Amino acid sequence: MKLEVIGANSAFAKEGVNSSLLLHLNDGSAVLLDCGYNIFPRLLEKGLTQKIKTVLLSHTHQDHCGSAITLLEYRLAAYGETTAIGGVSWQKLLDLCEGSDSGRLIRLPDIKLEMLDVPHAKGMECKAMLVEDKVFYSGDSAVSLLNTETAQKAQFIVHDAALSANPNHASIKELATAPCDVKARTYLTHYLPEKYEEISRLAEKYGFGGVLKSGDIFGIS
Ligand SMILES: [Zn+2]
Repeated sequence: MKLEVIGANSAFAKEGVNSSLLLHLNDGSAVLLDCGYNIFPRLLEKGLTQKIKTVLLSHTHQDHCGSAITLLEYRLAAYGETTAIGGVSWQKLLDLCEGSDSGRLIRLPDIKLEMLDVPHAKGMECKAMLVEDKVFYSGDSAVSLLNTETAQKAQFIVHDAALSANPNHASIKELATAPCDVKARTYLTHYLPEKYEEISRLAEKYGFGGVLKSGDIFGIS
């Protein structure tokens, strides 16, 4: 299994790509974790649209779901394939774009998935996810999830991180209270591109695995 970072930037970045991860499974298919508003063109450019059989959404902010329906529609038009969906409920998204015909685009996922409810935006359903018992993704979380059993089971952890106290995202300082072995397996994401150097310096200081960047690829055994 391999993890490819499609993007690692936050919502209002002037350049760069929204936070999104692609898990390449051993059977040749792939699972996309979040599909924000600028992800679909990047997937097309990289020739990845056919192998993405499953799309999981952590929540419905546009930087996490904005091109998800386009990807499903494209896969049906280009390859005649439905896409498995999961994470938070897609019903409102599907109703807006496809109405009662949404069943032609989707099927149920057949991967191993464990989810946690997380606080992020008031009143919004938000999930963190452990995929195939190996990769944990926080989505956007107002609190650190590094002390949860679900995160600590994972070999590879991806967590959003704010540079300072923030009502919607856990701060690096809060994340830094996790045990050292958990931090060493944790990679930070969801930052403005111009803050990359600063967040990298803090990640090193606190003992995190690193800071994700678009194009990074990690092997997961
Ligand atoms: Zn969000």
